[in-house]
Amino acid sequence: MSENSTYQKLRSHLAYLRLGAAAEALPGELDHAAAAKLGHTAFLERLLDIEVAATEARRHAGLTRFASLPAPWRLADFDFDAQPSVDRQLVDELATLRFLEDATNVLFIGPPGVGKTMLAVGLGHASVDAGYRTYYTTAADLAARCHRAALEGRWATTMRFFAGPRLLIIDEVGYLPLASEAAAALFQVITQRYLKSSTVLTTNLGIASWGQIFDDPTVAIAMLDRLLHRSVVFNIDGESYRMRAHRARADNLRKSVNASRST
Ligand code: ADP
Ligand code: MG
Repeated sequence: MSENSTYQKLRSHLAYLRLGAAAEALPGELDHAAAAKLGHTAFLERLLDIEVAATEARRHAGLTRFASLPAPWRLADFDFDAQPSVDRQLVDELATLRFLEDATNVLFIGPPGVGKTMLAVGLGHASVDAGYRTYYTTAADLAARCHRAALEGRWATTMRFFAGPRLLIIDEVGYLPLASEAAAALFQVITQRYLKSSTVLTTNLGIASWGQIFDDPTVAIAMLDRLLHRSVVFNIDGESYRMRAHRARADNLRKSVNASRST
């Protein structure tokens, strides 16, 4: 077989095996191997490395799309000095994602603006980067989706959907009171994930006030029981980060005004 027809055969093998990135890189890699006098092993390693990188990038992009995280926030961007009530060591420990292995839940409790969503989303990105199936929803969206599912006879499918992700983030529990159907949906989602996979939940309501979100306080108690059984809880207090930034800007402005007055 001529060298040219061997080359054509190799290209069609790569295409047949759907190794598109390797197929595309083949001519360049062959030239490089000849120029750098690479052996077969080194050449093949380089070629497959290109394919592996492309596969990983595709997988990461797919996981990112699926996760529906609402912001690019990373744990590394969190300003711990501004929020001393957040235990940095505990966040660092969570960032290793070991908590996913024993289905530990994470609760971020605190008033608006203190960084609950930022921390939850940061954990979400860490989980996606590690290759875990991750999904973000707000409690309101989860409720709306389950309501539609109930109307359209897709309740079981929807429940399976929420059981699937290795990490499920439910943001903003308690901002709106949940009707009994929505409470039932949330309860079932929490129950079916219990001891199987981790849920990160953010809420503005202290645990003692959870009865308020639900018509039926026994549902609230049963749900908290499952959530807290194996969990890490952050009680975040202090002032809103936005307000803080706002106040800092106002302070600076005041200072510069005063400075210009005194000169
Ligand atoms: P919450 O969910 O508690 O209402 P968010 O997480 O949405 O608050 O935070 C509000 C805004 O303030 C976001 O833009 C977030 O990135 C920012 N923010 C809050 N806390 C911090 C922090 N400690 N370091 C950096 N940015 C923060
Ligand atoms: Mg939030």
